[in-house]
Amino acid sequence: MATKNKKKRFAAFINGRWVKEGSQGTFENINPADTRDVVGVFPACGPEEVAEAVAAAKEAYESWRLVPAPKRAEIIRNAANLLIKHKERIAQQMTREMGKILDETRGDVQEGIDTGFYASGEGRRLFGDTVPCELPNKFGMSVRMPIGVCGMITPWNFPLAIPTWKIFPALVCGNTVVFKPATDTPATAVELVEILLEAGLPPKCINLVTGSGSSVGNAIVDHPDVRVISFTGSTEIGCKINERAGAKLKRVSLELGGKNAQIVMDDADMELALEGVLWGAFGTTGQRCTATSRLILHKKIHDKFVEKLIERAKKIRIGNGLDPKTQMGPLVSKAQRENVKRYVEIGVNEDKAELVLGGKELTQGPYAHGWFFEPTIFVNVKPKMRIAQEEIFGPVLAVLRAKDLDDAIRILNDTPYGLSSSIYTRDVNAAFKAMRDIEAGITYINGPTIGAEVQLPFGGVKGTGNGHREASHTVLDIFTEWKSIYVDYSGKLQRAQIDVQAG
Ligand code: NAP
Ligand code: MG
Repeated sequence: MATKNKKKRFAAFINGRWVKEGSQGTFENINPADTRDVVGVFPACGPEEVAEAVAAAKEAYESWRLVPAPKRAEIIRNAANLLIKHKERIAQQMTREMGKILDETRGDVQEGIDTGFYASGEGRRLFGDTVPCELPNKFGMSVRMPIGVCGMITPWNFPLAIPTWKIFPALVCGNTVVFKPATDTPATAVELVEILLEAGLPPKCINLVTGSGSSVGNAIVDHPDVRVISFTGSTEIGCKINERAGAKLKRVSLELGGKNAQIVMDDADMELALEGVLWGAFGTTGQRCTATSRLILHKKIHDKFVEKLIERAKKIRIGNGLDPKTQMGPLVSKAQRENVKRYVEIGVNEDKAELVLGGKELTQGPYAHGWFFEPTIFVNVKPKMRIAQEEIFGPVLAVLRAKDLDDAIRILNDTPYGLSSSIYTRDVNAAFKAMRDIEAGITYINGPTIGAEVQLPFGGVKGTGNGHREASHTVLDIFTEWKSIYVDYSGKLQRAQIDVQAG
């Protein structure tokens, strides 16, 4: 379905103004289901624009930090209400921009709404502690302080939800923002900024700088006045950012890749486990950081489960995500499809796993102009194979066989990542053992590896990040500094640890 559209021009938002021209020209954003459809033309910015954006955010910080937190939070609540109002329109545009199906883009906007309401509640909490002091007539408390200008660098797979996870709590805490969205999803970023402005945010508190990772991203990471870098994306880029920003002692929060697995034990509800893995592996065309890319089956149910899985995966309806009948959209870009093709070749040639479904790009008929790929399943995968170790970020599932629960958990843990995980079992003892022994930031019992809710911490262990957690109240630890305050109302010098009466 080609749409002959006049190329719409979009702008960046810097220093309180919409800016159509970037110092590095422009770039086009293409619909991955139909590459003849240009979603829009965007300014390609660079270090100059980043410098202007950071200066504006720094200036705005001085007044924004003094606005009472409940008032800051009201603006975020307004933004959440505006997201409700515009949910359908934003979802439609997001599907056109990055390809996932409408149910999922609606879910993406819903996650932004949920985050908005959750973060705005924090405006009346932002709890610190009051504690007794060891000396008489002395009062102790800890309070959360904002940090300053935060640089937000985000990926394309959750174009609205992930920016809101960062931007909403950061603003409630009193920080200001320079936001660099992924090159594949700048249109959704423009929507979010428009909504924040309509909600009443002072314009210089949010700056949207569109452009490439190498020019805009690096300039944000290197700028001395950006005190926090919050990054979601690949482990490779995250590590580079960590080094650069770490050298300047910035606070760096990293949400990176995953190689998530679902375990199915021999006592599990097989139909439930089947539905779980189909959704976990092929939802969002496998392009979720929490996607199920490994399935670990107990040996007793292995063959039967695989048979049913293939039968069901074959029936997945692939197509343009704007068509309500579609169950799986295209990959986001040509580069992403090339990457998936490369991993299928590795699976077949290098790893010698058995390809039992899919493995090919779709290029004919309705698929001729998009980045479509078949749902793909490998069996006889061994834990050390590259397709069992490396993040593929596409609709490719590696199936492994386990002897028992311990073996399954050992296989699950045997990757460099630790984001999400799942086990299907009816045995409460096995479930609790899995909850304890699986090395991951998230564990689902009898649910797929995808489906996080905003009131629980989100993030992972090992190669998935550097210990921070977004969502929940734990996100406040990324965007605030603790200050400890001692009030001595004794009217005399009191020396801690020295003037204390012996007990
Ligand atoms: P990516 O290539 O790492 O890019 C992420 C962001 O970083 C984009 O905005 C990108 O800009 C920017 N960037 C690229 N190079 C940069 C540099 N040198 N300095 C600063 N910024 C730079 O990741 P992606 O392909 O967009 O997203 C997929 C990855 O994200 C997967 O690995 C996935 O697992 C991970 N992810 C993790 C989570 C989580 O919470 N753990 C959630 C979602 C996704 P350009 O777009 O301009 O290149
Ligand atoms: Mg696009």
